[in-house]
Amino acid sequence: MPRRELLRNVRRIVVKIGSSLITENGMISNRRILRLVRDMAGLLRKGYEVVVVSSGAISAGCGALKKDRRLMSIPEKQAAAAVGQILLMNEYRACFKKEGFEIGQILLTEDDVKHRRRFLNSRHTMNTLIEMGAVPVVNENDSVVVKEIKFGDNDTLSAHVTNIVQADLLILLSDIDGFYMDLADPYPVEEIYKIDEGLIARAGGSGSVHGTGGMVTKLRAADIIIKSGEKMIIANGNTTGVLGRIMKGEKLGTIFVGRGNSLKGKKRWIAFSARARGFLTIDDGAVRALTEKKKSLLATGVTGVKGKFDLGDAVELLNSSGVAIGKGIVNYTSEELAIIKGKKTSEIRTILGETFFEEVINRDNLILY
Ligand code: GLU
Repeated sequence: MPRRELLRNVRRIVVKIGSSLITENGMISNRRILRLVRDMAGLLRKGYEVVVVSSGAISAGCGALKKDRRLMSIPEKQAAAAVGQILLMNEYRACFKKEGFEIGQILLTEDDVKHRRRFLNSRHTMNTLIEMGAVPVVNENDSVVVKEIKFGDNDTLSAHVTNIVQADLLILLSDIDGFYMDLADPYPVEEIYKIDEGLIARAGGSGSVHGTGGMVTKLRAADIIIKSGEKMIIANGNTTGVLGRIMKGEKLGTIFVGRGNSLKGKKRWIAFSARARGFLTIDDGAVRALTEKKKSLLATGVTGVKGKFDLGDAVELLNSSGVAIGKGIVNYTSEELAIIKGKKTSEIRTILGETFFEEVINRDNLILY
């Protein structure tokens, strides 16, 4: 399909920039950042809205501290990120300033995305920055996160940022031309509509010496984007004027196309961001009610409760064989559910009094796998 057609309705774009594109001899490079910023400024002037996700904090810090990234411990890398993030933002600020734009720094952790309120707060902040004409520049808050609450790579982070800001397109720029089905074949695949394990197996491991991502993390990002119904492009950031040319419709890189029955709004957040705090096992009748009749989940269909969760937390739903079939936001705490599971509405009224929820999980707060 012609690219111009695929990108016709795009207005808001997230551009992810890999460390290897903006470093030179181990140091952050003003010249290389300026090239990309000019390209982005071109898009802004054409009326597109741009959000940047940039790696390079750790690389910049290593350069300044004269340390070899490969020999560093995790706390040392976190310290390097603290040093490097300032250098990185200084360069972005200087470059965008030359083009007449202010920037705003947003540092996120995985926790910020998993909590609905923080997710929405960061959306409001970024929307406000865009309204005020400032370009949000996002990175992971490497200095404060531990492994458990870390995205770990900016490919994944940028897919979440795309959902946070409700962008139509994510462009991943790195030093590769696109996704190759076979490395011996010199042309990247033009269009991909579905990510499956076979494709991921072809992607292999490894990133470059600079970054932490590789093709696998890019495909995982593409999976989120496709299922969200948006689009993603992997392209080579070293190509002259790459962003402007992509938006003019030139077939650069690989485009991943999501369309059709995509998840919107809160359901998208439940699917990709909310962390399940527990499990509910439900009987076969409840499974049918959810899958075939598109009903909400009632207490009468719940046979088991696992984990400790609060009202408003996400839980995963298991069928009687223990297979996960969906995820949703519960109206009851785990303690309450342990008491009312299997009970009919009239019995729940007797146990909990008049103020109780009809549904354990409302249809609008439920996604099925
Ligand atoms: N957040 C890391 C940094 O700024 C980069 C992670 C990645 O390479 O994807 O250095």
